[in-house]
Formats: sequence, structure tokens, C-alpha cells
Amino acid sequence: MKKTTALIMVLLALALYYKGYTVGTMLATTGHAKLQGLNIEEVGDTPAELWIEVHDVSPGYGLEMLGEITNIIDKHKPVVDKTVLFVIPNHNGNTPLSKYPEFAAELKRLSHEGYVLGMHGYTHRVGWINPEFKTNQTTTRALVDASKTEFKLAGLNTPSYFSPPGWRTSKDASQLLRSEFKYIFYAFFIDTENSTLPYPLHEYTWSGLDMGGLENAKKSYKNTVGIYRLTLHLNAVNTEENLELLDKFLKFVEEEKRLP
Ligand SMILES: [Zn+2]
Repeated sequence: MKKTTALIMVLLALALYYKGYTVGTMLATTGHAKLQGLNIEEVGDTPAELWIEVHDVSPGYGLEMLGEITNIIDKHKPVVDKTVLFVIPNHNGNTPLSKYPEFAAELKRLSHEGYVLGMHGYTHRVGWINPEFKTNQTTTRALVDASKTEFKLAGLNTPSYFSPPGWRTSKDASQLLRSEFKYIFYAFFIDTENSTLPYPLHEYTWSGLDMGGLENAKKSYKNTVGIYRLTLHLNAVNTEENLELLDKFLKFVEEEKRLP
């Protein structure tokens, strides 16, 4: 597929995402799978598994904010199938994980509690023009190696989950990431070694992005089969209102799952 066609598909998918994500997801996933030569996995059965992904986990935000999120998740642990903490190894190039031993220790503790530690880029450069992983193979290799080193220096195991900052990668980067990680989380799908799982993010706690709040979250959960991805961003989710939404949503899933 030509680059322009791919770009148009992504733009169209983004536009559709805010109107009706099913069409957007389908278009984006099909375009990506075609470009990468991947199979799209079949969608599973109801009820959906609940996967929570916390992005932008950076020591720069401090331990308190992370605690506010994990305390709520811990309250509802039985209904959460998986929580991935996407950690930025060296946020903005000036916040290396290894220089924050207390934060790294908390991540280690959480991983022992069942949280999955994922890698979220290296410095987390986002933006439409030049996101960190929209780059060639050599640079991708160097970034992944630097990220791994940072995890190692911080005393943490190398993650098998990855999410590119700004959700975007080059074709080469996508390919390399699949050879390095078990799961790569994008906005509309999740890549595995040979296939793509067609599950989009659901973000209801991002300031400025009105996705319809709790009622929409409930509706989209009810309409999802396979895997329901609840996407949170550290810092953005840390308002009283958003944390309450998270708590209420998880309570709702508990009620749903108790149904026969
Ligand atoms: Zn991010």
C-alpha cells in the first residue's frame, strides 16, 4: 500500500474513531495488517476480558499519582484480567528510571502483585510529524536497546509488552518491535508476533477528549467481545472526577460479570 493511502486511512480512521470506533478500528486494523503482512485474529466470545493499560508511567509524576490509580484497581482486582503499566524509561531524555530507585522499587513490588510492566518508548517523544518510533530500523534498534538498558539499571526485568509513544511507528519499527516484544499496543489494535488483535483503546479520562464519560464507557463495554481495553494516562486520570469514573466503571464491570 502506498504511503499516502496509508495516511488517508489513518486520518479517516481517527475521524471515525470519535464517531463510531467500530468502523475506525476495522479500517485501521485492516490497513495495518495488510501493510505488515499480518493475519487479523478472530474476535473472542462475550463477556470481554478486561485489560487495563496505564500509559505514561514516569517517575517524574511521582509515586502518589501512580498509587491513586493502583489503589482503585486493587479494589476491583477480581474483574481485571490484566493491568499493564507502560513505563517511560527516560522521560524527555532527563528522567532515567534508574535515577529514581524508590519509583523503580514500587514498580517491582507491583509486578510481584501481578501488574505487567510494559515499555513505553524511550524518551516518549510524541507529535504528529516526528514521533519517536516513526523511524528507521537502526534508530529503532538503538532506542529499544537504550530502553532495555534503563530497565536493567533500575533492577527491572525486560518487558515483553510495548506501546509506541503517540501510537505511531514506521513499517520497519513495527516489524522490529514484533521480533522483540510479545504484545505491541497501538490505538486500534494490538500486534503479536504474527498477527493483529483487533481491539481498540477506550479512553474516558483524558482531559479535553470528550468520549462521553461513564455512560459511554458502560455502553462500549457491553458492546465488546473478546478484549476490552480500558486506557488510562498517568497525570491525565489523576483528577477527583476521573478517578471516580474509574472506580464506578470497575464497579459496573463487577456487577456485569456477576450476571448469569
Ligand atoms: Zn504516552
